[in-house]
Amino acid sequence: MTEPTDAAARRAIEPVICYPTETLPVPDLALYQRAHHDAVKTGEIVVPSREAATIEVPAGHFLKISSIEGPQVGDLNLFNAKNLDERFYSGKTRALHGTHVTTGHRLWSCFPFLRPMATVVADTLSWYGIDEFGGSVHDVIGTRCDPYTGNLLSGGHYHHCCHSNLTRALSDARALSLEEAEARVHDVLNVFMCTGFTRDTRQYFMKASPVRPGDYLELFAEIDLLAVMSACPGGDCGAVHSSDTATCHPMLMEVLKPAEGTLDTWYPPAANGYDRTHGR
Ligand SMILES: [Zn+2]
Repeated sequence: MTEPTDAAARRAIEPVICYPTETLPVPDLALYQRAHHDAVKTGEIVVPSREAATIEVPAGHFLKISSIEGPQVGDLNLFNAKNLDERFYSGKTRALHGTHVTTGHRLWSCFPFLRPMATVVADTLSWYGIDEFGGSVHDVIGTRCDPYTGNLLSGGHYHHCCHSNLTRALSDARALSLEEAEARVHDVLNVFMCTGFTRDTRQYFMKASPVRPGDYLELFAEIDLLAVMSACPGGDCGAVHSSDTATCHPMLMEVLKPAEGTLDTWYPPAANGYDRTHGR
């Protein structure tokens, strides 16, 4: 196609941020730090490699997700533990905070709730920043590895993609049929995954995660959460996923309860206040 004569001028128009976040309440990270200081562990679960596990995180508690044995990526789904209709909204979280999340960012729930489900309060990989390929860690751009795309591209019926792992774990946790559970599995937060878009074709890429045992991502639960996480069959996601080829490791999810009185000035966020008449 021939370029119009003013092509350069049109391209030179400066972009504007779609969703400026200056009006959002700023998370009180100092408050969360004080609450974390004498917090005690109240629960934990090991997520086996190529499988998923669930844990409940009461509002006002912390969820610590750790690498324990080797570099490994986790695909995380979050639900309101009291209402599975409210779940993590990866796309809007991306629109608000960018393609990757770190300390101070929030994980938002779907419509009509659209409120912070969790706040990222610690990230030992925050040093990584954005590498020379445009890659960064903890993305909200990937969807989750799934058997449908695997079948589409390569054929076959692999049952340990994150999508299937999350489906089985949610089914077990809430006594749902596989069909009911599958319909509730949603686009994930890719914990520890290092990803970006190629500069030439804008394709989604992954590269070996910089995560090492001892690294962790820690969330503060703003509402009662059911966390479901799959230890991805891609392992560190440096080469392949959706197969048994990659080296995989388990991961750890821990729940910590703040000391009494340390959250006196914290209140759970209300559901979104939009009137929902849609103008009728
Ligand atoms: Zn996966």
